[in-house]
Amino acid sequence: MPNTINGSTMYKIIQNTLKVMEANEKYLTKLDADIGDADHGINMVRGFKLANERIQQLSNPDVGALLNTTGMALLETVGGAAGPLYGMMYMRMASVVKGKAEIDKKDILAMLEAGLKAVQNIGGGAQPGEKTMVDTLHAAIQALKEVADREDVSLEEALEKAVEAARRGMESTIPMLAKWGRASYLGERSIGHQDPGATSTFLILHTMLATLRGYVGLKVTKYSDEDGSIIEEEPIKA
Ligand SMILES: [Mg+2]
Repeated sequence: MPNTINGSTMYKIIQNTLKVMEANEKYLTKLDADIGDADHGINMVRGFKLANERIQQLSNPDVGALLNTTGMALLETVGGAAGPLYGMMYMRMASVVKGKAEIDKKDILAMLEAGLKAVQNIGGGAQPGEKTMVDTLHAAIQALKEVADREDVSLEEALEKAVEAARRGMESTIPMLAKWGRASYLGERSIGHQDPGATSTFLILHTMLATLRGYVGLKVTKYSDEDGSIIEEEPIKA
């Protein structure tokens, strides 16, 4: 397994991200129905559809161009708060790896840190513990930081750690009180529900690892009606 992600792998990751969003559209929308306005799944599918149409038109794109094009498509099509948040996240990630033919785990760490900053800037400064995508992203970054400089840790191992942490970050949103967005209007009633944005962020990070491992990503096949936590999942085969 290569220790870097090149343009063609990143292309595949963006293709797979669309497939994962499609496979989990209903699930993401259910999570958003519980504490938001029930459109997160639909929005993410729409955004990644346009992103995929746009990247097809690029000739020989590098990693930065692919991420930037994706960010612009998301910004344009994803409704609600998620559009600007994901759009700017991808565009900031793109700016960190601009012109790079391939990226390693240090680049990925720098990318995610820049992406997190963008999300926090747009989101009004959301911190971990406030029931947003920041909880997933921050957890993944912390895990990646521990291994990004280690020669003995492969890209796959580093991403595995990041994805495990991202999953814990996502799950950690269940007991949290929402401080941002529509969910915050619910006050105490936002407690006991997994955050949709934290979940789609986990799926995005997971898809990166899945793609390196030669499959598409994961489909949630059973989830808790109560808190939206994942009960069963299966790999989506390539
Ligand atoms: Mg929504």
